[in-house]
Amino acid sequence: MHRRQFLRYLVAATLAMGPSNALAFFGSPKLTESDKALVKGLLIIDAHAHPDRYLIGTKSRDNASSLEAIKELGMAACAFAALGDTVAATRGHTTGTDYQLTKIQLDFWMDDIVKSGKVKLVKAASDIPKSTGHGYVPGAILSVEGGDALSGNPDRVNDFHACGVRMITLVHLGSNELGESMATSQGTGLTPKGCKAVERMQETGVLVDVAHASALTLKHVGQISRRPIVDSHTHPCSVPEESRCGRLRTWQGMETVARTGGVVCTWPMGDSRRSKRETFQDWAREIAEMKKRIGMEHIGLGTDGGGGLPGFIRGYRDVRDLVHLVKAMQDEGFTRAEISAYMGGNFFRVLQKSIG
Ligand SMILES: [Zn+2]
Repeated sequence: MHRRQFLRYLVAATLAMGPSNALAFFGSPKLTESDKALVKGLLIIDAHAHPDRYLIGTKSRDNASSLEAIKELGMAACAFAALGDTVAATRGHTTGTDYQLTKIQLDFWMDDIVKSGKVKLVKAASDIPKSTGHGYVPGAILSVEGGDALSGNPDRVNDFHACGVRMITLVHLGSNELGESMATSQGTGLTPKGCKAVERMQETGVLVDVAHASALTLKHVGQISRRPIVDSHTHPCSVPEESRCGRLRTWQGMETVARTGGVVCTWPMGDSRRSKRETFQDWAREIAEMKKRIGMEHIGLGTDGGGGLPGFIRGYRDVRDLVHLVKAMQDEGFTRAEISAYMGGNFFRVLQKSIG
């Protein structure tokens, strides 16, 4: 950040929060004893992030989720999402198939943090630690963002499941053999191979993630799902036309997720263009609106930390700053039980019903 940008940012932050609070938002977040007390006892699970990932041909675009920050916050578990469409994301400047490149990323986490005991591999929801006191080990939910890695072959679902993967985002940056991405929607929705993949995932115990999926792809998934699904990282779009929503989810789309018993997870993305979502208070107010429209039990947290969001809620640096969301939710009138449901309780229920 240049000096002038920094000063502009400081002025904006100061106006929004008052001078003493604003200064606390610069540098690396450090939790105070009262911050720790505020999140103590909450079940926090991040449904989508890329902490400390192995980079193939792409630069790390932010450091908003790391094992260090996860542990300091006391997060019980976090999704560790490998990129399933590396070939397209790097415009072919990589050697190997998406399947191979995804395996490399998953193996990196297995060798680096799972085998050394720094995280506990979440094979079933019961692997998620109940308490996050001193010396606890956070759970890692291995996931694949982009069903491109399946190459349209449902047997690969079993293969990834055997490698510890418990969640697959069907589509990512572009449409693939399974279905259409929001970015490249032409009105074809879920393909026959996509149907087979969804069926196999729900038989095997792999959670279906519809983040990035076009409205029609989501609708088709909703029609065939026998288990709850998740939209792991998004926020509500204020207009009903999908073509004007970019990466955001329409209310109709969120209702489809809710009807499966699933969860729509929201992230710390700052957004003044499509919705007024600039402060922690705006984020909390949005959760209140979602509670009214789709029900408290269908809302969760998915930060996309490490995924390169174009901008953050003012003052958000990494997952440790979720303490400010907890404060904002309290101010908005949410009960402790509701805050815990949003932060991880609802996603835990979906995991239990999907992966066992
Ligand atoms: Zn994503």
